[in-house]
Amino acid sequence: EKVLFNGEMKNRDQITIDIEDRGYQFGDGIYEVIRIYNGNMFTANEHLTRLYESAEKIQMAVPFEFEELKSKLTELVKENGLIDGIIYLQLTRGTSLRQHHFPSEPVEPTFVAYTRDFARPLNKMEKGVSAKLVEDIRWLRCDIKSLNLLGNLLAKQEAAAVGGFEAIQHRGETVTEGSSSNVFIIKEGELFTHPATNLILNGITRRCILDICHQNGIKVNEKEFTVNELMEADEVFIASTTSEVMPIVKIDEVEISNGKPGELTKTLQQHFNQLITRNGEK
Ligand code: PLP
Repeated sequence: EKVLFNGEMKNRDQITIDIEDRGYQFGDGIYEVIRIYNGNMFTANEHLTRLYESAEKIQMAVPFEFEELKSKLTELVKENGLIDGIIYLQLTRGTSLRQHHFPSEPVEPTFVAYTRDFARPLNKMEKGVSAKLVEDIRWLRCDIKSLNLLGNLLAKQEAAAVGGFEAIQHRGETVTEGSSSNVFIIKEGELFTHPATNLILNGITRRCILDICHQNGIKVNEKEFTVNELMEADEVFIASTTSEVMPIVKIDEVEISNGKPGELTKTLQQHFNQLITRNGEK
Protein backbone atom coordinates (compact mmCIF):
# COMPACT_ATOMS: atom_id res chain seq x y z
CA GLU A 1 0.00 0.00 0.00
CA LYS A 2 1.27 3.38 -1.04
CA VAL A 3 1.06 6.66 0.84
CA LEU A 4 1.31 10.16 -0.60
CA PHE A 5 3.94 12.06 1.31
CA ASN A 6 4.61 15.67 0.30
CA GLY A 7 3.46 14.91 -3.21
CA GLU A 8 5.41 11.68 -3.69
CA MET A 9 4.17 8.11 -3.71
CA LYS A 10 5.97 6.18 -0.94
CA ASN A 11 5.78 3.01 1.08
CA ARG A 12 4.47 3.65 4.57
CA ASP A 13 7.75 2.53 6.19
CA GLN A 14 9.75 5.03 4.09
CA ILE A 15 8.09 7.98 5.77
CA THR A 16 9.34 9.84 8.82
CA ILE A 17 7.59 12.65 10.64
CA ASP A 18 9.77 14.84 12.84
CA ILE A 19 9.08 15.02 16.60
CA GLU A 20 8.77 18.78 16.20
CA ASP A 21 6.22 18.61 13.43
CA ARG A 22 3.60 21.16 14.51
CA GLY A 23 0.81 18.76 13.68
CA TYR A 24 2.26 16.23 16.10
CA GLN A 25 3.00 18.77 18.84
CA PHE A 26 0.07 21.17 18.60
CA GLY A 27 -2.48 19.68 16.21
CA ASP A 28 -1.51 22.66 14.06
CA GLY A 29 -3.02 21.49 10.80
CA ILE A 30 -6.13 20.41 8.94
CA TYR A 31 -7.53 17.25 7.37
CA GLU A 32 -10.20 15.72 5.18
CA VAL A 33 -11.77 12.30 4.75
CA ILE A 34 -12.99 11.47 1.24
CA ARG A 35 -15.19 8.45 0.49
CA ILE A 36 -14.38 6.06 -2.34
CA TYR A 37 -17.31 4.18 -3.84
CA ASN A 38 -16.65 1.62 -6.55
CA GLY A 39 -13.13 2.98 -7.09
CA ASN A 40 -14.24 6.61 -7.52
CA MET A 41 -13.89 9.53 -5.14
CA PHE A 42 -17.26 10.87 -3.98
CA THR A 43 -17.76 14.67 -3.73
CA ALA A 44 -13.99 15.17 -4.03
CA ASN A 45 -14.34 18.76 -5.28
CA GLU A 46 -16.36 19.74 -2.23
CA HIS A 47 -13.90 18.10 0.19
CA LEU A 48 -10.87 19.65 -1.49
CA THR A 49 -12.52 23.07 -1.62
CA ARG A 50 -13.16 22.80 2.13
CA LEU A 51 -9.50 21.81 2.63
CA TYR A 52 -8.36 25.04 0.92
CA GLU A 53 -10.87 27.02 2.98
CA SER A 54 -9.71 25.44 6.27
CA ALA A 55 -6.08 26.16 5.28
CA GLU A 56 -6.88 29.80 4.63
CA LYS A 57 -8.69 30.14 7.96
CA ILE A 58 -5.51 29.15 9.81
CA GLN A 59 -3.20 31.12 7.52
CA MET A 60 -1.71 28.11 5.79
CA ALA A 61 -1.21 27.52 2.08
CA VAL A 62 -1.93 24.15 0.48
CA PRO A 63 1.29 23.36 -1.45
CA PHE A 64 -0.56 22.01 -4.51
CA GLU A 65 -2.88 23.37 -7.15
CA PHE A 66 -6.42 22.01 -6.86
CA GLU A 67 -6.32 19.82 -9.98
CA GLU A 68 -2.82 18.59 -9.20
CA LEU A 69 -3.91 17.49 -5.72
CA LYS A 70 -7.03 15.83 -7.10
CA SER A 71 -5.08 13.87 -9.70
CA LYS A 72 -2.50 12.75 -7.12
CA LEU A 73 -5.31 11.43 -4.93
CA THR A 74 -6.89 9.67 -7.92
CA GLU A 75 -3.51 8.08 -8.61
CA LEU A 76 -3.24 6.94 -4.98
CA VAL A 77 -6.66 5.26 -5.13
CA LYS A 78 -5.67 3.44 -8.37
CA GLU A 79 -2.23 2.47 -7.08
CA ASN A 80 -3.76 0.91 -3.95
CA GLY A 81 -6.56 -0.78 -5.92
CA LEU A 82 -9.11 0.72 -3.53
CA ILE A 83 -12.74 -0.11 -4.33
CA ASP A 84 -14.77 0.82 -1.23
CA GLY A 85 -12.95 2.87 1.33
CA ILE A 86 -11.67 6.24 2.36
CA ILE A 87 -8.76 8.55 1.74
CA TYR A 88 -7.49 10.34 4.83
CA LEU A 89 -5.41 13.42 4.05
CA GLN A 90 -3.82 15.90 6.37
CA LEU A 91 -1.65 18.97 6.12
CA THR A 92 0.35 20.40 9.01
CA ARG A 93 2.20 23.68 9.26
CA GLY A 94 5.46 21.72 9.12
CA THR A 95 8.50 21.29 11.34
CA SER A 96 10.21 24.00 13.37
CA LEU A 97 11.71 24.57 16.82
CA ARG A 98 8.87 24.25 19.31
CA GLN A 99 7.26 27.60 19.90
CA HIS A 100 3.61 28.56 19.90
CA HIS A 101 3.65 31.31 17.30
CA PHE A 102 4.03 30.39 13.64
CA PRO A 103 7.59 29.77 12.34
CA SER A 104 9.35 33.10 11.64
CA GLU A 105 11.04 31.64 8.56
CA PRO A 106 8.73 29.89 6.07
CA VAL A 107 8.80 26.09 6.43
CA GLU A 108 7.50 23.32 4.19
CA PRO A 109 4.12 22.03 5.31
CA THR A 110 3.82 18.27 5.86
CA PHE A 111 1.27 16.57 3.64
CA VAL A 112 0.17 12.96 4.05
CA ALA A 113 -2.61 10.99 2.34
CA TYR A 114 -3.35 7.29 2.71
CA THR A 115 -6.22 4.96 1.91
CA ARG A 116 -8.15 2.41 3.92
CA ASP A 117 -10.77 -0.21 3.09
CA PHE A 118 -14.06 0.82 4.62
CA ALA A 119 -17.34 -0.94 4.04
CA ARG A 120 -20.61 0.99 4.01
CA PRO A 121 -22.35 0.61 7.43
CA LEU A 122 -25.39 -0.99 5.79
CA ASN A 123 -26.62 -2.94 8.79
CA LYS A 124 -26.46 0.05 11.12
CA MET A 125 -28.15 2.27 8.53
CA GLU A 126 -31.00 -0.21 8.28
CA LYS A 127 -31.56 -0.70 12.00
CA GLY A 128 -30.50 2.68 13.35
CA VAL A 129 -28.09 3.42 16.18
CA SER A 130 -28.15 5.04 19.61
CA ALA A 131 -26.66 8.34 20.73
CA LYS A 132 -25.78 10.09 23.96
CA LEU A 133 -26.31 13.76 24.73
CA VAL A 134 -23.06 15.50 25.65
CA GLU A 135 -22.38 19.14 26.49
CA ASP A 136 -20.45 20.81 23.64
CA ILE A 137 -17.27 22.06 25.31
CA ARG A 138 -15.34 22.73 22.09
CA TRP A 139 -13.87 26.01 20.90
CA LEU A 140 -15.65 28.62 18.77
CA ARG A 141 -14.14 27.72 15.38
CA CYS A 142 -15.78 24.37 14.75
CA ASP A 143 -16.12 25.43 11.08
CA ILE A 144 -12.40 24.64 10.61
CA LYS A 145 -11.63 20.97 9.94
CA SER A 146 -8.73 21.15 12.37
CA LEU A 147 -6.54 18.30 13.62
CA ASN A 148 -7.33 19.50 17.14
CA LEU A 149 -10.07 17.02 17.96
CA LEU A 150 -9.78 16.56 21.72
CA GLY A 151 -13.20 18.06 22.43
CA ASN A 152 -14.73 15.77 19.80
CA LEU A 153 -12.83 12.75 21.15
CA LEU A 154 -13.96 13.35 24.73
CA ALA A 155 -17.55 13.60 23.52
CA LYS A 156 -17.33 10.42 21.40
CA GLN A 157 -15.70 8.55 24.28
CA GLU A 158 -18.58 9.50 26.61
CA ALA A 159 -20.98 7.98 24.10
CA ALA A 160 -18.80 4.94 23.40
CA ALA A 161 -18.43 4.22 27.13
CA VAL A 162 -22.18 3.50 27.32
CA GLY A 163 -22.35 1.68 23.97
CA GLY A 164 -23.56 4.70 22.01
CA PHE A 165 -22.66 5.15 18.35
CA GLU A 166 -22.42 8.93 18.45
CA ALA A 167 -22.41 11.85 20.88
CA ILE A 168 -24.99 14.53 20.11
CA GLN A 169 -23.52 17.77 21.39
CA HIS A 170 -25.44 20.78 22.70
CA ARG A 171 -24.35 24.24 23.86
CA GLY A 172 -26.79 24.90 26.65
CA GLU A 173 -30.21 24.22 25.12
CA THR A 174 -29.05 24.35 21.50
CA VAL A 175 -28.11 21.17 19.65
CA THR A 176 -24.98 21.78 17.58
CA GLU A 177 -23.64 18.61 15.91
CA GLY A 178 -22.29 15.13 16.54
CA SER A 179 -18.68 14.46 17.53
CA SER A 180 -17.95 13.53 13.91
CA SER A 181 -21.26 14.14 12.15
CA ASN A 182 -24.04 16.67 11.65
CA VAL A 183 -27.42 16.24 13.36
CA PHE A 184 -30.86 16.53 11.74
CA ILE A 185 -34.39 16.28 13.07
CA ILE A 186 -37.69 15.90 11.28
CA LYS A 187 -40.84 17.46 12.68
CA GLU A 188 -44.15 17.36 10.84
CA GLY A 189 -42.45 16.57 7.54
CA GLU A 190 -39.89 19.38 7.75
CA LEU A 191 -36.15 19.03 8.22
CA PHE A 192 -34.21 21.06 10.79
CA THR A 193 -30.44 21.32 11.17
CA HIS A 194 -28.08 23.79 12.82
CA PRO A 195 -27.09 26.63 10.44
CA ALA A 196 -23.57 26.52 9.01
CA THR A 197 -21.99 28.95 11.49
CA ASN A 198 -18.71 28.85 13.42
CA LEU A 199 -20.34 26.39 15.87
CA ILE A 200 -20.43 23.42 13.47
CA LEU A 201 -18.49 21.87 10.63
CA ASN A 202 -20.51 22.35 7.44
CA GLY A 203 -20.47 18.69 6.41
CA ILE A 204 -20.29 17.71 2.78
CA THR A 205 -22.88 15.00 3.49
CA ARG A 206 -25.03 17.68 5.15
CA ARG A 207 -24.88 19.72 1.93
CA CYS A 208 -25.84 16.65 -0.16
CA ILE A 209 -28.86 16.10 2.08
CA LEU A 210 -29.96 19.72 1.84
CA ASP A 211 -29.68 19.49 -1.98
CA ILE A 212 -31.73 16.29 -2.00
CA CYS A 213 -34.41 18.00 0.10
CA HIS A 214 -34.52 21.05 -2.17
CA GLN A 215 -34.83 18.84 -5.26
CA ASN A 216 -37.61 16.78 -3.72
CA GLY A 217 -39.76 19.47 -2.17
CA ILE A 218 -38.84 18.64 1.44
CA LYS A 219 -38.83 21.85 3.47
CA VAL A 220 -35.44 22.63 5.01
CA ASN A 221 -34.94 24.84 8.07
CA GLU A 222 -31.29 25.70 8.70
CA LYS A 223 -32.29 26.83 12.18
CA GLU A 224 -31.16 26.08 15.69
CA PHE A 225 -33.28 23.59 17.61
CA THR A 226 -33.27 22.68 21.29
CA VAL A 227 -32.54 19.50 23.20
CA ASN A 228 -36.27 19.26 23.95
CA GLU A 229 -37.14 19.55 20.26
CA LEU A 230 -34.58 16.85 19.53
CA MET A 231 -36.08 14.49 22.09
CA GLU A 232 -39.60 15.17 20.78
CA ALA A 233 -38.74 14.98 17.09
CA ASP A 234 -40.58 12.59 14.78
CA GLU A 235 -37.25 11.39 13.37
CA VAL A 236 -33.58 12.01 14.11
CA PHE A 237 -30.56 11.15 12.00
CA ILE A 238 -26.91 12.06 11.73
CA ALA A 239 -24.83 12.40 8.57
CA SER A 240 -21.17 12.16 7.69
CA THR A 241 -18.82 10.88 5.02
CA THR A 242 -18.45 7.50 6.73
CA SER A 243 -21.92 7.20 8.36
CA GLU A 244 -23.90 8.54 5.37
CA VAL A 245 -27.54 9.01 6.47
CA MET A 246 -27.61 7.22 9.84
CA PRO A 247 -30.90 6.94 11.75
CA ILE A 248 -30.82 7.63 15.50
CA VAL A 249 -33.39 5.44 17.21
CA LYS A 250 -32.44 6.01 20.85
CA ILE A 251 -30.97 9.02 22.70
CA ASP A 252 -29.79 8.36 26.22
CA GLU A 253 -32.57 6.00 27.36
CA VAL A 254 -35.35 7.49 25.24
CA GLU A 255 -36.62 5.80 22.08
CA ILE A 256 -36.97 7.99 18.98
CA SER A 257 -39.63 7.20 16.35
CA ASN A 258 -40.57 4.02 18.27
CA GLY A 259 -37.02 2.74 18.08
CA LYS A 260 -37.07 2.37 14.28
CA PRO A 261 -35.68 4.49 11.43
CA GLY A 262 -38.29 7.02 10.31
CA GLU A 263 -39.94 7.11 6.87
CA LEU A 264 -38.45 10.40 5.70
CA THR A 265 -35.01 9.29 6.90
CA LYS A 266 -35.39 6.15 4.78
CA THR A 267 -36.43 8.24 1.78
CA LEU A 268 -33.32 10.40 2.19
CA GLN A 269 -31.20 7.24 2.41
CA GLN A 270 -32.66 6.08 -0.92
CA HIS A 271 -31.85 9.39 -2.58
CA PHE A 272 -28.35 9.32 -1.14
CA ASN A 273 -27.91 5.77 -2.52
CA GLN A 274 -28.79 7.10 -5.96
CA LEU A 275 -26.06 9.73 -5.71
CA ILE A 276 -23.56 7.01 -4.77
CA THR A 277 -24.65 4.75 -7.61
CA ARG A 278 -24.41 7.56 -10.14
CA ASN A 279 -20.94 8.43 -8.83
CA GLY A 280 -19.84 4.79 -9.14
CA GLU A 281 -20.75 4.77 -12.84
CA LYS A 282 -18.46 7.68 -13.69
N1 PLP B 1 -19.06 17.52 12.03
C1 PLP B 1 -17.88 17.08 12.50
C2 PLP B 1 -17.38 17.61 13.80
C3 PLP B 1 -17.13 16.13 11.78
O1 PLP B 1 -15.94 15.70 12.24
C4 PLP B 1 -17.66 15.64 10.55
C5 PLP B 1 -16.94 14.66 9.74
O2 PLP B 1 -16.11 13.93 10.14
C6 PLP B 1 -18.89 16.11 10.12
C7 PLP B 1 -19.56 17.07 10.87
C8 PLP B 1 -19.50 15.62 8.83
O3 PLP B 1 -18.78 16.12 7.73
P1 PLP B 1 -18.72 15.37 6.34
O4 PLP B 1 -20.12 15.11 5.92
O5 PLP B 1 -18.03 16.33 5.44
O6 PLP B 1 -17.96 14.11 6.56
